Amino acid sequence: MRITNLNPDRDIGASSWFVDIEGSKLLMDAGVHPKREGWGSLPLYDVIKNEEIDAIAISHCHHDHVGSLPIVQRYCPRGHVLMTELSYFVVERVLHNSVNVMKRQRDELGIKEYPLFSHEEVDETAHLYQGFKYNREIDWAAFHKLRAGMPSPTLEFLDAGHAIGSAGIMVRGQKETLFFTGDVCFQDQTILKAARFEDVQADVLIMETTRGNKQVPPGLTRQTEAARLGESIKRVIERRGSILIPVFALGRTQEILAQLYLMMKNGQIPKQPIYMGGLGKVFTEIYDLQAHRTHRQHTNLILTEALELIVLEQGQLDKMKLAGGKIFVVTAGMMTEKTAAHDLALRMVGHPEHAIFFVGYADPETPGGRLKKTKPDETFFFSQSGGELTRKCEIDDFDLTAHANRDDLLDFVGRVDPRVVFLGHGDEPSRQWFEQRIRERYPKIKIHQPQPGVAVEA
Ligand SMILES: [Zn+2]
Ligand SMILES: [Zn+2]
Repeated sequence: MRITNLNPDRDIGASSWFVDIEGSKLLMDAGVHPKREGWGSLPLYDVIKNEEIDAIAISHCHHDHVGSLPIVQRYCPRGHVLMTELSYFVVERVLHNSVNVMKRQRDELGIKEYPLFSHEEVDETAHLYQGFKYNREIDWAAFHKLRAGMPSPTLEFLDAGHAIGSAGIMVRGQKETLFFTGDVCFQDQTILKAARFEDVQADVLIMETTRGNKQVPPGLTRQTEAARLGESIKRVIERRGSILIPVFALGRTQEILAQLYLMMKNGQIPKQPIYMGGLGKVFTEIYDLQAHRTHRQHTNLILTEALELIVLEQGQLDKMKLAGGKIFVVTAGMMTEKTAAHDLALRMVGHPEHAIFFVGYADPETPGGRLKKTKPDETFFFSQSGGELTRKCEIDDFDLTAHANRDDLLDFVGRVDPRVVFLGHGDEPSRQWFEQRIRERYPKIKIHQPQPGVAVEA
């Protein structure tokens, strides 16, 4: 088996792995790098431009896993794109939104090469997408190989519990097996239930390492963090400040909405409207529509009916008064420029009655990451357009992650019992932590931290 990590950088970056297993060639994920711009944000597709890719498989529909799909489809124009049925309901929305965001960035930030693909291209290649239920074995070799009766590897999606449709991917060849975790969560979230990876065993394991640098303090659980978030929101509303929760539109938004619903239902906070972005609303509708197909809790909770969700129209935010205890659940999670979260934060940071609550990962080199680190009254650089700000508002960080805790992932490595493990999708210190611990606990397992674009025989 030959494996190439196509992430252009040594950080979490863009997820994309090229696998050659017994002569069949699979690309897993086609992400974009959230901190890079233009062509530089793409996986290293040049490395595989002469390969005959049989199929593409997508673990889930976050940008860092799917955002460059139409581009890599240019390299294999007839290859099928395999994903879970639930991802299938989401993927086109995500890609069309990418085109819109890129066009806006071209106009507002002057990135001339944007958009890297068009709405038409998404529409014209979408017929190649195929959605599958979890736990079904799928043949994925190119049609001419299948027709010739050549032995073909199979593939199976396993529920990863991270966002709607998310999956780990089990690839089975004649002689060897490979498992790719995608992004995984081993605990129940408020809506989604934990990953179902119980019986996974594989010769080769490719693993995400997002939280390798994060030790969970003793006594801290999802429940204690959710309770603390409820208390904090209550406090801010009582002092008539507004609350900004910057989130990603897919997954985080719906989990936080469910939290807010429970708080209102328990009487912890008063019933009130929640302001959100249009894309977040669309994905919330998909969560509602697919509730009975999803491995989740609160199956009968229809968020769009249970809550008063108000979509912020373009320009509306600028005119809105922030006094009086409003709740905003808006994109983007890392507060990149030209997003509602960025612009709201600009208006809130200088006022002690307001609060900005983080509930997920924010890269330290993004506006959100910088803001998260500040101390009260500290002056700091926020962003190019926002400049330097002095923080007067309340800032807090709640650990309601959709990623596996590092100790759970380490136990998982033991259960999978692979011959080789590839560490990816994490920053340097996170991968280092895993490498060291795996070496101590499972000395027989060979460990790779593959360099960008370098093929590794496994
Ligand atoms: Zn993800
Ligand atoms: Zn990811």
